[in-house]
Amino acid sequence: TLTCETDEEVAGTCLAVAEKLTSSQFGSIDEVNDSGRLNAIALSDPGWDECKMPRSDAVHLLKDIEIRGLWGKVFRHEKSVIINDPSSHPDRVGTPEGHPVIMCFLGVPLKYADKTIGVIGLANKESGYDVADQQAIETLSVAFVEALNRKRAEEELKKHRENLEDMVEKRTAKLEEVNAELESFAYSISHDLRAPLRAMQGFSQALLEDCYDELDARGKEYARRIDASALRMETLIQDLLNYSRLSRSEIELKPVNLDSVVDNILKQLDTEIQNKDALITVDRPLPEAAGHKATLEQIVENLITNALKFVPFKEQSNIHIWAEESGEMVHLWVEDNGIGIGPEHHERIFCIFERLHGIERYPGTGVGLAIVKKGIEKLGGRVGVESTPGKGSKFWVELGSIHS
Ligand code: ADP
Repeated sequence: TLTCETDEEVAGTCLAVAEKLTSSQFGSIDEVNDSGRLNAIALSDPGWDECKMPRSDAVHLLKDIEIRGLWGKVFRHEKSVIINDPSSHPDRVGTPEGHPVIMCFLGVPLKYADKTIGVIGLANKESGYDVADQQAIETLSVAFVEALNRKRAEEELKKHRENLEDMVEKRTAKLEEVNAELESFAYSISHDLRAPLRAMQGFSQALLEDCYDELDARGKEYARRIDASALRMETLIQDLLNYSRLSRSEIELKPVNLDSVVDNILKQLDTEIQNKDALITVDRPLPEAAGHKATLEQIVENLITNALKFVPFKEQSNIHIWAEESGEMVHLWVEDNGIGIGPEHHERIFCIFERLHGIERYPGTGVGLAIVKKGIEKLGGRVGVESTPGKGSKFWVELGSIHS
């Protein structure tokens, strides 16, 4: 088999083999191009130094040559041609000045799907060509056409793959750019919304405090509603700002003690835990992991807050926190005995603003788990959930171990 890098190498190797098999002095392989003329795809060196053709034409592969002369005969007959006496042959057109004189010639067509697509031309075997030479080159020509087609198909495929990779790369870059643009847009909008919001809050407070007695029952109710809506908007804006701030921040991984992360958050949520009479157990000691303290605190806070929140009405929440270290990974688990989540929602709850409940029963903005996901991805980790409705949820985050 011919193992070569490019189709020209395949042709060069084939020509060298053909010359050797037939003890020819030189030769060429030519292929018919789209305009019915010949392109040389392999050309041996018959001593070009002597040749008076412009060097550039001689040494480089000739392109777009008219089909004529001895070569033309191969195409006319679509069969191999042996000419051991070319000087007296009617098809002879002669060679350029300085081109070695052709003493004898063997031309074998290259065939593909019964069509003559080119020719292997060999010249100047000392004793002249015979049928054995012809048969050897005919066999070679079949193998060559096959190898050439295979090589071209491979090259085509490679080109396609490269094009595809290039396209994906460009699209990804474009997506990242658009994403960054959107995030900075969200950031500046959230930021700019804070000023008018503060004005609304100021005036609704003024109504509720300074003008309270002048309002009738309906007025008081409206003022309270404005105040509540403004408060909700404030939470939304704050969450959005936290989310986009996280996207924009650069994070450097450091060993972080998960015990202290969990401790800090439990302390921070102490009042809420007491109010809900929640039972929280932690399997100590938790390991260290490669992370970023503030980001991990934000992640753990959101997971515990959800575990406290999504419990059936009036039930006590039991939360269990533990970690597993295996090889290069640390998994931190937060398990609750809450309402659970149907498997069809396990992915979408991590998208921003995705919520499964009305805010009256379970208040929230739908940003918490999106922050968890973005945060953990910033740390090179992953997040997921295992849950069945009515049976509680187990959220996990995966981080790199400090031993990896
Ligand atoms: P929020 O808590 O503000 O609603 P999140 O992004 O934190 O937003 O959560 C998205 C949704 O995922 C929640 O609205 C809830 O439906 C579901 N969810 C999250 N955590 C839990 C949990 N521990 N148990 C049950 N459902 C949960």
